[in-house]
Amino acid sequence: MPETPQQDTPKPNGFYKQPQDDLYVARIKLIAGHITSDQLRVLADAADQFGEGVVHLTTRQGVELHDIRDAETEGLADLLSTGGLACGGTGKRVRTIIACPGSRCKYGLIDSQAIAEVLNARLQDYEGLASKFKVAISGCPNGCTSPQATCIGIMGGRRKDDEGVAREAFVLYAGGKMGKRPMIGQRLPVKVSGLETLADVCATIVEWYRDQAEQRERLANTLKRLGMDALMNHLTATTDIGG
Ligand code: SF4
Repeated sequence: MPETPQQDTPKPNGFYKQPQDDLYVARIKLIAGHITSDQLRVLADAADQFGEGVVHLTTRQGVELHDIRDAETEGLADLLSTGGLACGGTGKRVRTIIACPGSRCKYGLIDSQAIAEVLNARLQDYEGLASKFKVAISGCPNGCTSPQATCIGIMGGRRKDDEGVAREAFVLYAGGKMGKRPMIGQRLPVKVSGLETLADVCATIVEWYRDQAEQRERLANTLKRLGMDALMNHLTATTDIGG
């Protein structure tokens, strides 16, 4: 469903108002679209008890329950917590990280799902951003999660080490977005090796954006205003990226 106006969030992170009186959408945050069978049962119970018995799958690998009454949002959150689920994925923060099956796909060059877990742990607490910030991971150049249409897009690749052995590498894009004025992200002139460096680079981009962006400005527009060189100079000075 379309992104909501970001000022229209009277409820805590994860709830937003429907056009219909007294009704809310509850967006349940998942990492990389991963959900257990037990969590699906809790979700089904929650849909029956608090919604209309329907679960909506979002375009960014989350789930939503619709038609939640204002007075019942707390009870819903309590029930979801019994399955280790929580509402989230709205507002001016790092949104749900999406990822393809990665190493479970015959084309996969990286373990997208595991990387999503690591990046979520590193990025989820950034607050005070100018706008929403999205991350997408694809296990290979086929780009099934549209990494070029995302603030940070990560694509699996290969890079030869000093002995000529092909090793896992990450190809990075920055500054993509959809919406009314879509923009294609630019490929960063680096190939990052190692999960720790990848997490450092992603966190540094989020911090740069937090510090440089004007209110309501997406990373794509910050890069358009300040130039990719400004971001690259900062990354080169503060992380272990190599050309
Ligand atoms: S991006 Fe590549 S690895 Fe991921 S699902 Fe698509 S084809 Fe498979």
